Amino acid sequence: MGRRLAYSRRLFPFAVGVTSNVARRRQIYEGKAKILYEGPEPGTLIQYFKDDATAFNAQKRGTISGKGVINNRISEHIFTSLAAIGVPTHFIRRVNMREQLIRQVEIIPIEVVVRNVAAGSLSKRLGIEEGTQLPRTIIEYYYKDDALGDPMIADEHIACFGWATQEEMNDIADMAIRVNDFLSGMFAAIGIRLIDFKLEFGRVYDGDYARVILADEISPDGCRLWDMKTGQKLDKDRFRQDLGGVEEAYQEVARRLGLLQPEEESAVLDLDSHRKKRGK
Ligand code: C5P
Repeated sequence: MGRRLAYSRRLFPFAVGVTSNVARRRQIYEGKAKILYEGPEPGTLIQYFKDDATAFNAQKRGTISGKGVINNRISEHIFTSLAAIGVPTHFIRRVNMREQLIRQVEIIPIEVVVRNVAAGSLSKRLGIEEGTQLPRTIIEYYYKDDALGDPMIADEHIACFGWATQEEMNDIADMAIRVNDFLSGMFAAIGIRLIDFKLEFGRVYDGDYARVILADEISPDGCRLWDMKTGQKLDKDRFRQDLGGVEEAYQEVARRLGLLQPEEESAVLDLDSHRKKRGK
């Protein structure tokens, strides 16, 4: 019976609680790519990775088959590696293919974007050709508000509206740079150029004392990753720009990180064969 329950939960995560003998998990929040459920202990949550994809502030919607499984694995790998170099994160452990146990945090309503190479909104806003190496790394802040389209903000707005203290912002900037140094090296070692990425942070409380830790996820959904040799995009821009081969690109990142099992690897299509199939 226990096995049957576990099985049905995995296949029908949204149907949990439909039959009376299945314990209902309380859903805390549903976002565009993830769902948060109440965790097994106070102060914990279960983070469920969906296959749903959105872009341009949810004006474009779709699904990327198997994305949730891959992002769960990639994010686990990255958060575990970051913890090993001393970056505190919300990640506790992966529970199954699509879920991980995390610490509950109070999300700081700021998206932190780190850029090494011009692309995306930076190229558009300032007219800098995509692919231009930036003379120094840039950290940008965006206010997390879907209704406003996540507008870019300055430290002044963060201080003025009390979204984070100056001390918290110092910690966030320090962690963002450490994450960038680590990830740039990690991806370079597998032939991938880390163009830019987005981070989110949250507060955990220890009595009256609050400290900031890395939250959310790090995956090809929130990073720009270009193949170093060919320049091919191995990230969500394939979905945003209708380039095709989205699933394959995510799998390729996981494969290079050594995260796919041999039987999963046999299912990986490379981007060249995908293009040939599409006659391009
Ligand atoms: O669109 P833009 O160039 O500002 O994106 C910078 C980086 O932040 C990209 O890697 C993108 O995937 C990520 N991002 C994100 N979520 C957002 C906005 C940007 O993951 N809401």
